[in-house]
Amino acid sequence: MFSSKESFKVALTERLEKKFGKDAKDASPIEIYQTIGTLVKEKMNKSWVETNKHYLKNEEKQVYYFSMEFLLGRLLESNLLNTGTLTTVKDALIELGMDPEEIFEQEHDAGLGNGGLGRLAACFLDSLASLELPGHGCGIRYKYGLFQQKLIDGHQVELPDYWLEEDYVWEVRRSDKAIGVRFGGNVNPEFIDGRLTFHHTNYETVMAVPYDVPIVGYENQTVNTLRLWSAESTTNDFNFHSSNRNDYYKYLEYKRSIESISEFLYPDDSYFEGKLLRLKQQYFLVSAGVQSIIKMFKEKYNNDLRKLPEKITMQINDTHPSLVVPELMRILMDEEGFGWDEAWAITTETVAYTNHTTLSEALEKWPVSLVQQLIPRIYMIIEEINERFCQMLWFDFPNLREKIPQMAIIAYDQVHMAHLAIVGSFSVNGVAKIHTDILIQKEMKDFYTVYPNKYNNKTNGITHRRWLLNANPKLAELITDTIGKRWISQPKELIGLLKYASDPSFQEKVRNVKQDNKRKLARLIKDQCGITVDEHSIFDVQIKRLHGYKRQLMNIFHIIHLYNVLRENPNLDITPRTFIFGAKAAPSYYFAKEVINLIVTAANLINNDPVVNNKLKVVFLENYSVSLAEKIIPAADVSQQISTASKEASGTGNMKLMMNGALTLGTLDGANVEIKEMVGDENIFIFGLTAQEVLNYYQFGGYNARHIYNSDHRIRTILDQLVNGFFNKDEYEFKDIYYNILSNNDEFFVLKDFDSYIEAQEMVDQNYRDQNNWLKKSITNIAHSGKFSSDRTISEYASEIWRLSPVHV
Ligand SMILES: *Cc1c(COP(=O)(O)O)cnc(C)c1O
Repeated sequence: MFSSKESFKVALTERLEKKFGKDAKDASPIEIYQTIGTLVKEKMNKSWVETNKHYLKNEEKQVYYFSMEFLLGRLLESNLLNTGTLTTVKDALIELGMDPEEIFEQEHDAGLGNGGLGRLAACFLDSLASLELPGHGCGIRYKYGLFQQKLIDGHQVELPDYWLEEDYVWEVRRSDKAIGVRFGGNVNPEFIDGRLTFHHTNYETVMAVPYDVPIVGYENQTVNTLRLWSAESTTNDFNFHSSNRNDYYKYLEYKRSIESISEFLYPDDSYFEGKLLRLKQQYFLVSAGVQSIIKMFKEKYNNDLRKLPEKITMQINDTHPSLVVPELMRILMDEEGFGWDEAWAITTETVAYTNHTTLSEALEKWPVSLVQQLIPRIYMIIEEINERFCQMLWFDFPNLREKIPQMAIIAYDQVHMAHLAIVGSFSVNGVAKIHTDILIQKEMKDFYTVYPNKYNNKTNGITHRRWLLNANPKLAELITDTIGKRWISQPKELIGLLKYASDPSFQEKVRNVKQDNKRKLARLIKDQCGITVDEHSIFDVQIKRLHGYKRQLMNIFHIIHLYNVLRENPNLDITPRTFIFGAKAAPSYYFAKEVINLIVTAANLINNDPVVNNKLKVVFLENYSVSLAEKIIPAADVSQQISTASKEASGTGNMKLMMNGALTLGTLDGANVEIKEMVGDENIFIFGLTAQEVLNYYQFGGYNARHIYNSDHRIRTILDQLVNGFFNKDEYEFKDIYYNILSNNDEFFVLKDFDSYIEAQEMVDQNYRDQNNWLKKSITNIAHSGKFSSDRTISEYASEIWRLSPVHV
């Protein structure tokens, strides 16, 4: 049905008739979307079944990627691309008088993630399938994804994201694979036949029902599975025998409390919120996932669980799923009869851990009482792991004896999940070179002494299929016309573009593509915000979660500075600039919400002031998400990656923007360091403190924000404007930002880096004036972006951590 436009049109028409009783002319865009989705899904089903058959009989190793978040975005367009049917379908839709983009936009984003960490998991799934690697995703089917953001009078308002309102065409419910997860109750040790066993009673069973989503590889027959677990109640766990109607209400209450486990995604990015429900979610994911893996494994390998490490790796995305360690121990010991030592050997050779942050506010530390009450048997196992680990330190590492309280898994009435993950796994990886270096040299220095061989780096990546081929088809086509299509399967071949970096005719083509994309984004800005922007101005973009360390505040301070300069000298010769923001703040992150308010307030003032003479526009696009990112990134000229050095583990937004020809304006942080290494100093704008300098200030002091306030009139003016009524708001509106900088001594070094930031921004302005030179830099960035394809990242995980080989379907 996808072999030609004609056969597709026939299939679409027939199915519309069957499903909705309508022909193509009468059907609504959503009906057409759902029908195409269903057809594509059916096309994928055959290979899905075939892939699963291979995975059942083939004895190659397999990997399970455990993540609390999978930020998939929309799937129709990427599934069409990967199945090689995108062009056919687009052309057929156009012939039917429809706009393919309008149809694709009917799909509700699967927003089951907060930001970088969840999006990384989604890119990894795409690369696993595209490289024919046997890799499965394991996550939670939240009923509500990340909230929808609305701006009302400059303030962020959160609305629930009920993404399942329309049928989700990609999922398949698998009730037959449901698994019980036990919470609470009592555990009693008993000697049975001279063996110590643990008897668990009075627990509550939650049914975990899997919903499978097929993950199709690029132009191959591999269709992997993302398994998302949903929490449901079992009626047989409840006593219905009483005719007392109160019992019915009690049952409803009980049912609601169980379903609440997969009700919503916690909206905190890089922040630990120690809520009981969140811990329930974590154990729910881990227990359902590990139990189902063990069940399948036993059937496949004739109950020989000693083979587990040789056949399976469980990769945990940050510490959120680190309960896999005690859960696997529990199953091996309590259900499969292994002794501690053997169970421990199997577990620690099966689990691998990826660290995503060194921010202290993000580190998971659960109160002992919470863990003990919710998962008593798991707590006992963690206690034993801790006991043995501390003993080992005491005897084998006398030099570390006084460090034991800081290294223990349980200390000061808290369970330290990162320590559990390090001790319980065979691999610990950071997500960019500088991040791994900081882990080894500082954050995890003592653990590194104990386990030097566990540590390794895997610099993050992004799928070039979604972020270039799908998001920027004109650029992709131009690249293919220029260097051939090998780059699509071998993204490093993009380097072939270097030859054309100074070629005037190629430059002109790249410029036209960018201009088209900018025109399109300008239209979207006009539609959504009513702001008219100059499509020939520099599109300067900062899109990411709102966070103190990401320093959106420094960006808006610089914009206010430019505004001040222009008000003083309206004829100043600056290159017209459009600053574009997209960012969600965690609902309880007061400071982040204040920054959004400041950006929107400053934008209103500046955009409506004739004095700036259209040289300056500021846009805050609401509800930043994967599908909005796909529209902004192809139109960006400048990519702001300005985190306080040492704070951003890697970043992946920086890679998406580079791949689309934006030049990075950034600090030497995360993967910016490696981008600079690749493109060279002249093709990137670097400024600010180095990570080492930042860490030294934290350790030894010596920074005083007020000194800078007193000595730099530009900064003094801006800070004073926050509290002197300049923004025509209540004069207290921005006092918290003011005090955060001056009284709390500017934790993220905004003032310290401000001068060099202004200088770097001036360089951007100057450089953009020479368009040929700018295009040369832009092309050079695209040419070097192949390294940042997640295909490279996943190949490294596969060969260095997982020892995984392709399984050809
Ligand atoms: C890529 C991406 C991120 C991560 O962006 P960073 O700049 O690396 O923080 C966050 N949210 C969405 C929707 C993304 O697509």
